[in-house]
Amino acid sequence: MDRLQKYEDWARACMHVRCGFCRENCPAYSQLQLDSYAAKGKMTILYHLLKGNIQLNEATAERVFACTSCGLCDVACGYNQSEAIQEMKATHYEQGVNIPESYMKISSNTRGSGNPYAADTAEGARILQSIPESDLSSAEYTLFLGCTQIYRSDDAVDSLLKILRAAGVSFRLPTEQICCGSPAYRVGDEVQALEQAEEVCNLFEQMQASDILVSCAGCYRMLSHDYKQLLKEAPRFKVTHITELIRDLIQNEKLKLKPFNAVITYHDPCHLGRHSGIYDAPRQILSSISGIRLIEMDWNRQFAKCCGAGGGFRAGKSDDAIEVAARRIKEAEATGASILVTACPFCVRNLSDGAEDIKSKIRVTSLDSLVASLV
Ligand code: SF4
Ligand code: SF4
Repeated sequence: MDRLQKYEDWARACMHVRCGFCRENCPAYSQLQLDSYAAKGKMTILYHLLKGNIQLNEATAERVFACTSCGLCDVACGYNQSEAIQEMKATHYEQGVNIPESYMKISSNTRGSGNPYAADTAEGARILQSIPESDLSSAEYTLFLGCTQIYRSDDAVDSLLKILRAAGVSFRLPTEQICCGSPAYRVGDEVQALEQAEEVCNLFEQMQASDILVSCAGCYRMLSHDYKQLLKEAPRFKVTHITELIRDLIQNEKLKLKPFNAVITYHDPCHLGRHSGIYDAPRQILSSISGIRLIEMDWNRQFAKCCGAGGGFRAGKSDDAIEVAARRIKEAEATGASILVTACPFCVRNLSDGAEDIKSKIRVTSLDSLVASLV
C-alpha cells in the first residue's frame, strides 16, 4: 500500500474538484457509462483506500482493471492519473486480490508460455531464424519484433524487412522470440514483466546490441521508458521507432516511395503518441508521399482517442474494446478518408475488428505496410 501513498494528494485534489473532465473520451467511461470506470471513480477508490474506508477487492479490481492505459485522463486532468491507476493495478496483483480471469489470462499466458498469446515460442524462434539477416553478426540495428507482429500479423514482418532492405539499412535479429513484458506490466504483473525485461536485456547484452529498432508502439514504450523504472537503471541500449527511421531515410533520399493517390487519416497509438511524444514522424512520412492527402480526425495528437485495445482491456472486455474501436472508425470515416493508417500492430488489429463490426468501407493498415507497398 505504501507505493500508493505518493498519489494521496492527487486523489484528495480530485475529491475536492470532482470536475469529471477525465470522462470526456475515456474509452472505459465512454463504453461502460459509469463514473467509477473513469479516472474520477478510480481516484475515489484510491482516496477511500488510503483513508482506510475500503479494502481492495473484486469490485475495485473490476473498476481499476477496466482501463486501456491510454493516458487521455492525464491530458484532461493535469495529474498523471494513468500512472496512479497503473500502480493500483500492481497493488491489486501484489495483494493477491481476485482479479477478473480475462485480465489475468495475459499474465498467466506470459508466465506459462513466455508471451501473452500462449503461442509456441519455438515457432517464434523458427520464424526469426528463417530470416537471412538473423545470423548477420555486425549490423547497424538489432530488429526487435514483438509478439503481436510475430504471432498475430501475417504481413507485418514482411513489410518491415522489405523497407529495411530497400533502403539498404543493415540489421540483424535475435534468434529467440522474447516478449518485452509490456502486456504483463499493463495488467499489474510486475514480477513477470521484470522477468521479461531481464531476459530481453540479457539477450541484447549477449548480442552486444546497442541500437534497437522496434515497430510495435507497446514494445517501444516498454523498452524506451518503462524498463528504466522496472530495472531501476537505464538500459544500456538506444531504442528507435521505425517511423523515425523511415522519416530520416526519406529525408536523406535513401528511401524513395512511389506516388499514391489517396485520402488518408492517421490514428496516433497511445503508447507512441501521448506516452512517447512521437507525433510528427508518421505525419511527415505520409505528407512526403506524392498523391496522399492527409486529413486529421477531430481528436488527434495528444488528444487522440484510444483504439480501445491497450492495458488488457481487449482481453478483459473484448466486445467493449471492439465497440470503442468502431467509434474511432466512425471518426475516421467523417474525414472522408478511404484509408486509416496507424503505427502499432495492436491498434491495427483492434481498429480492423471495429471496422468489420460496423461494416465500414475504410481500410485499416499499418504505416509499415503502406510504405512497403510503395518501395
Ligand atoms: S479530471 Fe482529474 S480532478 Fe477532475 S474528476 Fe477527473 S481525475 Fe478528478
Ligand atoms: S488511462 Fe484511459 S482508459 Fe484509463 S482511466 Fe484514463 S482515460 Fe480512462
